[in-house]
This record gives sequence, structure tokens and C-alpha cells, in this order.
Amino acid sequence: MARRKKIYEGKAKTLYEGPEPGTIVQYFKDDATAFNAEKRDVIEGKGVLNNLLSEFFMQGLGQIGVPTHFLKRLNMREQLVRSCEIIPLEVIVRNYAAGSMSKRLGINEGTQLPRPIVEYCYKDDALGDPLVTEEHIAAFGWASQQDMDDILSLALRVNDFLSGVMLAVGIRLVDFKIEIGRVYDGDFQRLVVADEISPDSCRLWDIETGQKLDKDVFRRDLGSLTDAYTEVARRLGVMPNNPPAAGKPTLVN
Ligand code: C5P
Repeated sequence: MARRKKIYEGKAKTLYEGPEPGTIVQYFKDDATAFNAEKRDVIEGKGVLNNLLSEFFMQGLGQIGVPTHFLKRLNMREQLVRSCEIIPLEVIVRNYAAGSMSKRLGINEGTQLPRPIVEYCYKDDALGDPLVTEEHIAAFGWASQQDMDDILSLALRVNDFLSGVMLAVGIRLVDFKIEIGRVYDGDFQRLVVADEISPDSCRLWDIETGQKLDKDVFRRDLGSLTDAYTEVARRLGVMPNNPPAAGKPTLVN
């Protein structure tokens, strides 16, 4: 059996060549990093939970007509996705002030924003993913005006969907980050929601208690990250039958 080819190793995921052309296997690792990887740890079971949660959100988006790169989950740690060209932007949508916005603008965490605010950061670890404006994006050619219109519309649709799903299980969607990819169907380009959607990339607060159920638990040393993510998975009904366990990548071809 041939060893599959590793395409890219990121902080929380490894990408392998998929079994068909145009596909990629996304392997979710247990590694947790924060503050541009200055803080790091291995949290057993995190990869399993994020794989299941990202599948749940991507499938739900697909069902309401929001295109994503997700094809299917292969096992507890891996999913098959369409290969796409990632636009070098982190698209952040905020419903309540928190994190870097609170720091930057001096707004108390938890303050409701007058409307969802969309921000863009340039994806570059060495630069610490700096905030950029649409002027930078256009001037440096990272995305066209048409792309930006589509990205804004995708971001707001994802926000509506995620906010509703989370509200239904007593969780406030404070903010989240998505990445957008280009896929080509013949000569035509389409934009899809790519990467992952999980508590690693969202801020999720319990509506009643304000308890944090996202990566801030790790960033701010607030307790067990696995317990927090397990609680999100339990409420959404996507808990694995067996508790998450460490696993090795499997061969798919
Ligand atoms: O740190 P900041 O407040 O800008 O983060 C906003 C949202 O984007 C948070 O939900 C955070 O988890 C997410 N984010 C991310 N990856 C980054 C930066 C932010 O998932 N590199």
C-alpha cells in the first residue's frame, strides 16, 4: 500500500493528498496553540471533537445552500474535502465585542454590537495575521471586488446559521473566523467555506452562565478544553459513541 502524500502541516491539522484528484484528506490533530503558537499543548481528544463538530456545521451549511469544501467524514479524525485555493484572509464575524476587538477599541467583552461586524486579517503567521482593510485586499490583489461581495455574503450567511444553531442549544455565538477557498469548475471559479468551523475558531458562551465553551478556555487557562468542547458536542447531539481517543492517521489509498 502506498504511503499517502502529506501536502501541508498546520498548527491544528495536517492535509494529505486525497484518493481522487481534487480531493484532500484533512486530519485533525490534538495540538492546541494560541498567541501565534507561543502557547502550545496537546489536548487529548480535541481533534476528534473538532472533526465531528466541523462536519456538523459544514453539513448544516450545505443543507441551507451555503457552499463548503466538505465532502464526507472518513473516520473520527479525518474528513475528505475538496481541494481549493485558500484566499489568504481570515474572515472574522463579531456579534459581541471580545478578544482583539475589545483590546483594540476599549469595548468591554460581551457588549452587544449594533450589527454583525466583519473584519479581515491577512493570513501570515510571521506577521501575526494583521488586520487589513478592503483597500489592502484590492490593492494587493488578494481578492477581487466580486470575491469580496461574495465573501461578505457567505460570512453573514454563516453567521445567521451558526447563531441560530447555537442559540437553540443555549449558546451565544460571540464571534468566529472562517476561511474561504476558490474551487474551479471548468473555467468557472466558485467560493466555498473551507478549513474548519469548530470551537477552535469561534467564541461560544453559555447564555445563562456566560461560561466559555471555546478555545479561550485554553488561551486563558480557564479549565478543561476537552470538557468545554464535549459540552458543545453533547448539546448539538454530535457526541462520539466512545469518548475521544488519540488515533493515528489512516491510509486512504
Ligand atoms: O483574537 P480575535 O478576537 O481577533 O478572534 C476573533 C475570532 O476569530 C475568535 O473566535 C477566534 O477564535 C477566531 N480566530 C481564529 N484564528 C485566528 C484568529 C482568530 O480562529 N488566527
